[in-house]
Amino acid sequence: MSETSFFSINPADGKQIAAYPTHSDAHVQKSVKQATKAFEAWRNNTLRERATLLLHIAKVLREQKEKLALLATREMGKPVTQSRDEVEKCAKTLEFYAQEGPKFLADEIVATDALKSYVSYQPLGVVLAVMPWNFPYWQVFRAMAPILMAGNAMILKHASNVSGCALAIEEVLKKAVAPKGLFQTLLLPSAKVADLIAVPEISAVTFTGSTFAGRKIAEAAGRNLKKQVLELGGSDAYIVLEDADMTLAVDTCFNARLVNTGQSCLAAKRFVVVKSVRKEFEKMMLTKMGAATFGSPQDINNKIGPMARIDLREELHQQVLRSIDAGAKLLCGGYLPDGAGAFYPPTLLTNVKKGMAAYSEELFGPVGVIIEAKDEQDALRIANDSEYGLGGALFSKNKRHAERLAATQLDAGNCFVNSPVHSDARLPFGGIKNSGYGRELGIFGAREFVNIKTVFIQ
Ligand code: NAP
Repeated sequence: MSETSFFSINPADGKQIAAYPTHSDAHVQKSVKQATKAFEAWRNNTLRERATLLLHIAKVLREQKEKLALLATREMGKPVTQSRDEVEKCAKTLEFYAQEGPKFLADEIVATDALKSYVSYQPLGVVLAVMPWNFPYWQVFRAMAPILMAGNAMILKHASNVSGCALAIEEVLKKAVAPKGLFQTLLLPSAKVADLIAVPEISAVTFTGSTFAGRKIAEAAGRNLKKQVLELGGSDAYIVLEDADMTLAVDTCFNARLVNTGQSCLAAKRFVVVKSVRKEFEKMMLTKMGAATFGSPQDINNKIGPMARIDLREELHQQVLRSIDAGAKLLCGGYLPDGAGAFYPPTLLTNVKKGMAAYSEELFGPVGVIIEAKDEQDALRIANDSEYGLGGALFSKNKRHAERLAATQLDAGNCFVNSPVHSDARLPFGGIKNSGYGRELGIFGAREFVNIKTVFIQ
């Protein structure tokens, strides 16, 4: 261990939970060696053998659900029922890859003039995963399941405010009797990530986090010509058309904005509402937002907890204030509550226009933003007028028409109709533009960290 430490602070009361000394350079080197050794053995396992480990990990996750859920809730403030759901989703995703992985990664014969030619999906080696705090388990396991299934080893550098979760994940793998070194957590300052990417034994990097840090990762990976997948920020537009089922639209936008206390990459960050129904939407949304309460994330009755860190709350509050200064109208919230913790009230802004922070920046917290559009075409233009392209949703009773718009006019990686944007192990997930590149989940996620090898026999 080295001199520096990471501190876990409970965002509900501002008190320190634990201090974790970061790993020394010598420890990092040893871990990389161990991972390489583990990879050399693991790659020779059959797909079925790898699937068995994934099932064991899922089982341990379920056995430890309560403990893990409480840890995440204490470290980053997620309402505890959502923490439990998160652990369950990880287990399901491991089971999905255990079942489907062998099909996704089976050899594929391609008829050519060879005696026999086929595509074989071979592992790349040791994959470095740099992950964010907002879904401290989900982000890691959704990357891990296909990475291990493909025969790779994995090293995790987690966000420094969830070091307890990071170490707990390593424990889960140990309890599942994963081969030594196959998965390891390194407590590493972000300033050391670029050097680790450059280490020859690291074959690839998967990153989930902000666009800012994503660029740094991409630079380091690009310099070393290493494969990378980037899952970055988003500012999903939820378009409400004139013929929308207004109750469905308002309820979905409300829930999709406030899930995880608004700290989700695919939250409903902009409500783009056509002029003819804007007032109705606004009134209904204000009724819900104004009545939404927040409190201790350990109380199962609270759907909204604190934000994960006090500095993130300050950043969000400044974005709200800058937007108001630029002409946005505050309908509710928008203040710093008295007392300890990083709580921020459900907040609603309207009259948001181009040039304001709430129009163009990612608001990573419980702040709803209403942007009025002249009509359907204007709504699509506004939705696409963003540096991001992670997801988007459309609300309309004319499902066929909305489907066409979602499929062909919305510029984002995940487009939904009459539904919140969400991830599902069966479907690919990822973004375009400054939301990143590459895909996780589904068959596409299974084939990101593989050598797509041509085998030709004559
Ligand atoms: P972040 O600040 O980018 O941190 C993410 C990870 O990168 C952490 O492990 C962090 O470590 C590390 N990091 C930060 N700066 C770095 C640098 N210069 N070089 C190398 N590593 C660095 O993001 P966050 O605040 O944790 O997460 C919120 C962001 O993630 C939002 O923008 C959200 O939209 C995005 N996100 C995207 C997805 C998706 O699937 N597209 C999913 C979830 C979240 P330290 O903690 O030690 O700094």
